[in-house]
Amino acid sequence: MFLIVVAAPAQNRISPEKAASMKEDLVGQVDAMKKQAQVMVDSVFSFGELGFQEFETSKYLTSLLEKEGFKIERGVAGIPTAFVATWGQGKPVIALGSDIDDIPQASQKPGVPYHVPMIEGAPGHGEGHNSGMPLNIVAALAVKQVMEREHLSGTLKLWPGIAEEQLGTKAYYVRAGLFKDVDVVLFAHVGDNFRVAAGPGNQTGLVSVEYTFKGETAHAAGAPWRGRSALDAVELMDIGWNFRREHIRVGSRVHYVITNGGDQPNVVPANATVWYYYREADYQHVMDLWKIGDDMSMAAAMMTGTTVTSRLLGAAWPGHFSVPIAEDMYENMTEVGLPQWSEQDQALAKALQHELKVPERGLAGKIPELKKPQPLLDDDNGVGSVGGGSDDIGDVSWVVPTVTLNYPSNIPGGPGHNWANGVSMATPIAHKGVIAGAKVQAMTVLDILTRPELVDKAWEYFQNVQTKDTKYQSFLRPDDKPAIWLNQKIMDEYRLKMKALYYDSSKYDTYLDQLGIRYGEWK
Ligand SMILES: [Zn+2]
Repeated sequence: MFLIVVAAPAQNRISPEKAASMKEDLVGQVDAMKKQAQVMVDSVFSFGELGFQEFETSKYLTSLLEKEGFKIERGVAGIPTAFVATWGQGKPVIALGSDIDDIPQASQKPGVPYHVPMIEGAPGHGEGHNSGMPLNIVAALAVKQVMEREHLSGTLKLWPGIAEEQLGTKAYYVRAGLFKDVDVVLFAHVGDNFRVAAGPGNQTGLVSVEYTFKGETAHAAGAPWRGRSALDAVELMDIGWNFRREHIRVGSRVHYVITNGGDQPNVVPANATVWYYYREADYQHVMDLWKIGDDMSMAAAMMTGTTVTSRLLGAAWPGHFSVPIAEDMYENMTEVGLPQWSEQDQALAKALQHELKVPERGLAGKIPELKKPQPLLDDDNGVGSVGGGSDDIGDVSWVVPTVTLNYPSNIPGGPGHNWANGVSMATPIAHKGVIAGAKVQAMTVLDILTRPELVDKAWEYFQNVQTKDTKYQSFLRPDDKPAIWLNQKIMDEYRLKMKALYYDSSKYDTYLDQLGIRYGEWK
């Protein structure tokens, strides 16, 4: 008789007992990095950089990762502040991402529950994007320790979301093939509780389109008949949209800002620019809005005797998140549990909620249920999710099984994209949320490394359910390029002043210390 020995197909397979002890080990490793996490969170908070201008943040994060043995590829997809940091070997390949850009005019002293900018008018982390990459780095370093000791095969790739507020880069990452060999993407985004969504219906898709009209200058009083006003065209286009709103689907979102309305009243504006976001539930409905907008821009040009050109500044597919991975992550979430909030944490939260005139419930006290797949908007039958924000992680979610981990670093009740959402982001609330989140992220990575069937299930869902009827086609046209010039002027205006306030961790224990803010004593 012959005994045929078949090599185990996956070398990483381990017993449940071993997995449990490895997870315990991971939790200990993450806890041991509390100081490192606080320094990273506070540093990135102090850099406060807008989309495409995250130079200081990228330099800081890549030098940290390089020191930890990651191989860095900079300037990926033609985006100067983008990078991929890789460590490890072989399958599975797990990519951890999170955004790093911030919000215009959101400068805010951390730990203070009312509006007081650090620098008047300057950008700031009014969405909390300073915390996600520190979370991923802590998780990756913990996993790396365990992988080295246990000789687990696998590759970790860390990458930042650049200019997420402009939905500016992830579709370009996809086009550049960043996720070609990736098995699973774990994305992290700040929240006010632990959450993970499964399936579709939790984010809208979007295109960000800028229209520039060209006319002719003239003396606005002496010879107005000789002028052709580009601003008139912008205003007529906007009026057109504002009438049209009643006759589009309930879930559509169309919003704009005029970024150039001319120079001065006595010169007929020869150049004017309006910037639109068109949001909808799926690819085709986004394309429909885009078409309406293009038609309106041409009609406005005809009405005013001007010409119009447009360019795409950003795009996002509606997200669709891996059900098997989300279920696994949710289990890890409930195992880790919410952070232990101190009296001062709760007092800060309630004081901010008081200031914002929202229910004074304090910080997250209970992890919500797993967010189940939501039906897409169906007007004829009156069902489905309506409106809501977008994230260009959507594009990634259509090329590789992806989930987004929300972790509790923020105070419930903020309006979003606002100074108030920055209040907690360099305080113990953010630090504790990041540590708890890093544990969930690390445990989920370990599950993916040691349970090949989880990766199989994720791809089965991706192929047989998610992409069965819907095929990804990018909003990007072949000639579209990342809008890397965005926000440069604003950063030029504020960077010097902001530099003076960068966190110096060699001199101060925390950023609050550096700013002279005594936590819990803001009165
Ligand atoms: Zn965000």
